[in-house]
Amino acid sequence: MIEARRVVVVGGGSAGVAAAISAASAGASTLLVERDPFLGGDLISGLPILGCRNSLGEQIVGGVASELVAACAERGGYVGPVFDWRTLWGECVDPEALRLAIVAALADRGVELALGRPVGSLAADGGSVHELTLCGSGGTERLEADVVVDCTGDAAIALAAGAECELGGPGGEFQPVSLVFQMANVDAQALLSYVRDHPGEAILADNPIIGRSPAECAEELYEAGYPYMALSAEGSLLGDAIASGGMYPCTAIFMSPTSTQRREVTLNSTRLAGVDATDPHELSRALPVLVAQVERCVAFARKRLPGFGEATLARIAPRIGIRETRRLIGEHVLTAEGVIEGRKCAEVVAKGGHHVDIHGSGTYQKRVPVSGGHSYDIPYGCLIPRTLTNVLVAGRCLSSTREANGSARVMGTCMATGQAAGTAAALCALHGHTDVRELPLELLQRTLRAQGAILDGTA
Ligand SMILES: Cc1cc2nc3c(=O)[nH]c(=O)nc-3n(C[C@H](O)[C@H](O)[C@H](O)COP(=O)(O)OP(=O)(O)OC[C@H]3O[C@@H](n4cnc5c(N)ncnc54)[C@H](O)[C@@H]3O)c2cc1C
Repeated sequence: MIEARRVVVVGGGSAGVAAAISAASAGASTLLVERDPFLGGDLISGLPILGCRNSLGEQIVGGVASELVAACAERGGYVGPVFDWRTLWGECVDPEALRLAIVAALADRGVELALGRPVGSLAADGGSVHELTLCGSGGTERLEADVVVDCTGDAAIALAAGAECELGGPGGEFQPVSLVFQMANVDAQALLSYVRDHPGEAILADNPIIGRSPAECAEELYEAGYPYMALSAEGSLLGDAIASGGMYPCTAIFMSPTSTQRREVTLNSTRLAGVDATDPHELSRALPVLVAQVERCVAFARKRLPGFGEATLARIAPRIGIRETRRLIGEHVLTAEGVIEGRKCAEVVAKGGHHVDIHGSGTYQKRVPVSGGHSYDIPYGCLIPRTLTNVLVAGRCLSSTREANGSARVMGTCMATGQAAGTAAALCALHGHTDVRELPLELLQRTLRAQGAILDGTA
């Protein structure tokens, strides 16, 4: 038997979680399909949620992202919006609190879950996907949906249905994959006082809008008291360790707080470049390399990093973090100019504010801030595949150039585009629009604003 749902969201990372919550909130029966047996993707890896504020500190993403952050706070799992005195405001949350909040929010809206069930194939004609087949150890299952929201990170559904996509860079390059982890029992004050005394060891004042010297930024970090900073490979502490082989080449050890109670910090530094993460064989070969890097970084931190002498490895992210795979080429393509100039548009359905952030191999990272610390608008057309009628695409794989994607891939922005796609899908299904282009933009924007999404009035 084929079961029919109004909206099927495929992929349960930041975009998919937001899309499913929003589609159900807008009144559509919603199924969330995820190939892993857990939900949240990198949201539960302990990374700070970026893109919810621009570099000026102004909130640019609300809606589901704000709801989940508030739910973490209710559970005592919110460190706060913290500035790294480099360029970023991060919503620093306890990943365990967020894990609880995500499942509770989906259950509260009545979202049906299909976990551990990858979409293995689909049937489409005339630009419309009319059947999805879920696989898994329990056998196959066929589904119908009015609208499918592709939040797979890889545009896997759109591609299979015939949409145009791009993979990685023009020369076949990919941003590195990484495995992030947490260390507990970190003495943040010892770390921050070391950085205050040695500001050249950290990446600070990376954005002209800050208008302060690295030494002044290090002082601000110390005063704030949160270990949200990047230990730079250009400093002697990390740089010498890389040169002597004690550490692997990396741009920095990016650190952010997850729990003040556990004195816990996320460390993001492991990296393996050139991995095509759409190929499970390549991803499998990456795991032992990244795990060995985790062990080296823990040993380096305990031996050399001030404040980490008594720290222990607390948790490793449930899966390898993927920065770059496939991008949709949709009705509108978000460009680097649109991002860096902070362009606004009448078709806005979400906002971004993260710098263009492209990691390379070794110690290389390209970082270009949004001008003035402002935000940019993402139009509805970035979510619409050119040749498809009942599919929307959100999250990391939205329609964008490689450079623009280096900004729009962060989790706050993924949640904002997920919310827009989920809401649009629900409205199309409920109002009988068989082509997502038929949906009146004004209705979508009005509904998003009513859900708490931020579409107007930001720098
Ligand atoms: C090392 C690293 C550090 C980062 N640092 C930060 C940071 O500090 N802050 C920040 O905000 N962002 C950060 N990012 C970026 C951010 O984490 C990701 O870009 C973002 O989480 C992507 O979300 P998504 O929902 O688009 O995709 P994903 O989280 O990848 O979700 C896609 C989901 O779809 C599922 N899926 C795929 N195919 C199928 C299928 N056929 N059937 C069913 N399910 C399927 C996958 O299992 C997955 O769960 C970082 C990324 C990396 C790798």
